[in-house]
Amino acid sequence: MHAHKYDFDIRFFHELSDFVQAVERDAGDSLFLIELDALYNMQSDLLAARKTLLLGELLQRLPSGHRYVYLQSERQGSRFPLQQRLVDSNCLAYAEKPIANDVLVDKLFNLFVQQKRSDVVRVAMLGTPPGWDDAALREQRVELVYHTDPQTLHLRVKDLRPDIVLITDEEYERTPAVVRVLKRNIEADPVREITLLQRRADAGQARRALDSGFDALLAMDDPDLLARQLLNRADKIRVARDLIGKDRATGLLNKIGLQHKAQALICRAALEGKPLCLGVIDIDKFKTINDTWGHYFGDIVIKRLSLTLAPRMGDGDLLSRFGGEEFVVVFWDCALEQGWHRLDAMRQAFGATPFEVKPGDVRHFSFSGGLAAYPSGRSENELFLAADAMLYEAKEGGRNQIRPFPQVVASTA
Ligand code: GH3
Ligand code: MG
Ligand code: MG
Repeated sequence: MHAHKYDFDIRFFHELSDFVQAVERDAGDSLFLIELDALYNMQSDLLAARKTLLLGELLQRLPSGHRYVYLQSERQGSRFPLQQRLVDSNCLAYAEKPIANDVLVDKLFNLFVQQKRSDVVRVAMLGTPPGWDDAALREQRVELVYHTDPQTLHLRVKDLRPDIVLITDEEYERTPAVVRVLKRNIEADPVREITLLQRRADAGQARRALDSGFDALLAMDDPDLLARQLLNRADKIRVARDLIGKDRATGLLNKIGLQHKAQALICRAALEGKPLCLGVIDIDKFKTINDTWGHYFGDIVIKRLSLTLAPRMGDGDLLSRFGGEEFVVVFWDCALEQGWHRLDAMRQAFGATPFEVKPGDVRHFSFSGGLAAYPSGRSENELFLAADAMLYEAKEGGRNQIRPFPQVVASTA
């Protein structure tokens, strides 16, 4: 089912009672996929079922408090009352057959990521706050920063990198150029939303605002409504960020996501005076792995490496699948020597992972790594180039080893 590419396992159930048991035992990190036809056909398995139950009744037998994904036939999909029943129950989503396996797995993966999504969304606001509940918004992972001076807003935005900028109509009228100054900066995040807050509807002002670069308008007369709309926007931004910044196959950050987060982390390291390490990892002789056991097996090796690395990352760290069989790690609050030990422990763990290439034939693979630290390297790009150069040396030096820059710690193969 293409699930091997992803960071999740799929189990199949053919007995309703087994399925219900699995649901009841779940620790909260599973998705439950139900094919409606199969559910209907399995009802003889229900202990108390003496008569034939309708599908809707069957659905009620599923343990509540869990969320299900339903797979329905085209005919079922055309029955609105059934769909209404689904979406009003514990339905996280429904899919309609026919649906290609890889498409379905990809969509399930998105649901997983969505469930875990809790990234902070940053909002910078120019003007008087509308009187909403800051603490409630913060609880929903929306962070507000208020700014009062239109002439320095662009500087604040450069430092803060907010996802949304809110500007009140009052401030906009006072300094109409403010939004153009924000937008024309070549480094400005093109995904950032700049929104005008209007105290009352004013079509002329709205038109001018849109012409001068605002992305959207919101009414600010009802602070509670405004806060709710902001939360919806924050959700969409999280989705967009993941689509842009995450690798679909492993759920890890991709190159774009890593660059974005690493830059922010380096800014934080500068502010807080903390060190950090950036490591580049590349699987050794991967072409041979592909050529000998096939691309499919190669994908499994990549997935297993991601599963080896992920549990060894700390809360403030970053893990990225940077490209094919290349990964990048960032260790927060970690100096070079400690970083080398951590990365080397990962190398050893991966090297110890057994791969049964065919029954009775177990192989081990390795990776090489290069490492650089902030503040020796001052930007994400500088750190990456230094670490990548050290990766090259690790390959030249015989592979299966980690080389730090500068070479202050002894590397052992
Ligand atoms: P080295 O030890 O020098 O790194 O040797 P290598 O064979 O690993 O060389 P290199 O890093 O240049 O090769 C990477 C290969 O990985 C080339 C490409 O065909 C393969 N590859 C890239 N992305 C994927 C992927 O997603 N899945 C699979 N199976 N193979 C991939
Ligand atoms: Mg490579
Ligand atoms: Mg390689």
